Amino acid sequence: MSKKVVIIGGGIAGSLLAKNLQHHAQVTLIDPKEYFEITWASLRGLVEPSFAERTVINHREYFTNGTLVTSSAVNITETEVFTEDGRQVPYDYLVIAAGHADPLPRTRTERLNQFKAENEKIKSARSVLIVGGGPTGVELAAEIAVDFPEKKVTIVHKGSRLLEYIGPKASRKTHKWLKSKKVEVKLEQSVDLNSAEYGNKTYQTTRGESIQADIHYLCIGKPLSSAWLSETILKNYVNGEGRIKVDENLRVKGKNNIFAIGDITDVPEIKQGVYAQGQAQVVAKNLRLLFEDGKKGTKLGTYKAQPAISLVSLGRKHGLAQFPFMTVIGRFPGMIKSGDLFVGKTRKELGLEANLK
Ligand SMILES: Cc1cc2nc3c(=O)[nH]c(=O)nc-3n(C[C@H](O)[C@H](O)[C@H](O)COP(=O)(O)OP(=O)(O)OC[C@H]3O[C@@H](n4cnc5c(N)ncnc54)[C@H](O)[C@@H]3O)c2cc1C
Repeated sequence: MSKKVVIIGGGIAGSLLAKNLQHHAQVTLIDPKEYFEITWASLRGLVEPSFAERTVINHREYFTNGTLVTSSAVNITETEVFTEDGRQVPYDYLVIAAGHADPLPRTRTERLNQFKAENEKIKSARSVLIVGGGPTGVELAAEIAVDFPEKKVTIVHKGSRLLEYIGPKASRKTHKWLKSKKVEVKLEQSVDLNSAEYGNKTYQTTRGESIQADIHYLCIGKPLSSAWLSETILKNYVNGEGRIKVDENLRVKGKNNIFAIGDITDVPEIKQGVYAQGQAQVVAKNLRLLFEDGKKGTKLGTYKAQPAISLVSLGRKHGLAQFPFMTVIGRFPGMIKSGDLFVGKTRKELGLEANLK
């Protein structure tokens, strides 16, 4: 009798794991959306909505042999997962891949319509305010500045430099690049989004500056989806940042049959989808080892924290790459990421055609 594996979260890590395990166990994937979305390619969909046709993928396209539950997990016991819609899903092995809490629409069609609606807003705006100068704020500013150079784009960032998750060299080069595209960057201040009264599109910053903007985007990073664990058997396995404590085999520390992967883990590395995918591969291998030989002493695969390598797209042709000994900006990193944003590659990893027919 094959084992029951429940995966909580159908994002970058959970979807790849579901795809890789579906013919080796009875897999149930729990996700509040009917689709998987390639997160790092989403911002292109705001300036080119048809791009999202390839980046928003129904779970059923790659996960053909398992059970899909379209709901959120709300509780865990030693043997079952409870969902918001009232289901009890039994497991032999559980994998938590719940990453970030992001209130997205339930269906692919609704999500694609959202991209179209946002694109209309951007097209009709003369000025755009972006709150937050992390990777999302920077990539969004670059997408708009490159595709709509006539629009006034302003980034307001609370920190002293852009892209604080990587090195200062990366921040300086990116700041200069954005300036060359006429993006205004205001550091060490925040903006009160309620300061623009209805009909008046002038926002006030904490430094008393005024910013004129027809629309705004809040790009301040999404919270981790771990608050719901505080009432479960895992309540003592979550650290102060809301991350699940895992061992070198990516098992929740002290639990033999519960794993965690992706951004939600406390693995000490910068949180990247490519690392989340690497963790999914390790857990797929470990689970297969456990299915074959449930005996004690099975040597499970280990996961090592990865170096702080990062690629930030800057519109369609340029990019910024931070490697361990070098940080480069321009066409070369752009050639690696910015054209297709790894969409074809990610689709192929899920066993799908790179392009739609
Ligand atoms: C703009 C941007 C650009 C990026 N660029 C890159 C890049 O170039 N390269 C790179 O490697 N990484 C990049 N990243 C980071 C990457 O997107 C994340 O590291 C990755 O999404 C983490 O994957 P995950 O599976 O852990 O979590 P997520 O992708 O956040 O997936 C979590 C899933 O769990 C679901 N979920 C949440 N709570 C529950 C619950 N209670 N029950 C059931 N399901 C739940 C969510 O709906 C979601 O589907 C970028 C991120 C952004 C925002």
